[in-house]
Amino acid sequence: MKMKVCSSCGYMGEPVKQCFESFLVDLFIWLIVGSVTLMSGLLPLLVIPAAWTLYHIVRFKTKCPECGNLDMVSLNSAKGKDAMAHTHH
Ligand SMILES: [Zn+2]
Repeated sequence: MKMKVCSSCGYMGEPVKQCFESFLVDLFIWLIVGSVTLMSGLLPLLVIPAAWTLYHIVRFKTKCPECGNLDMVSLNSAKGKDAMAHTHH
């Protein structure tokens, strides 16, 4: 079990992956650069969306399902205990 606590709202549980909305941006960039590449025939342009998507995957993070805060910490960490102490009623 990967129980985590949200440092913002104190939600406890598993963080959710922020996959759908965040990757719409990637899709958008691929569509634009893809159509430009098709029209101009400049294949090296595809490096731009490829680099962005790679960056995005490396930076890929989970978020709190309650408030959307990206900073969810482990319950056992000092930061997690601190978040619990401040938000638990
Ligand atoms: Zn939260």
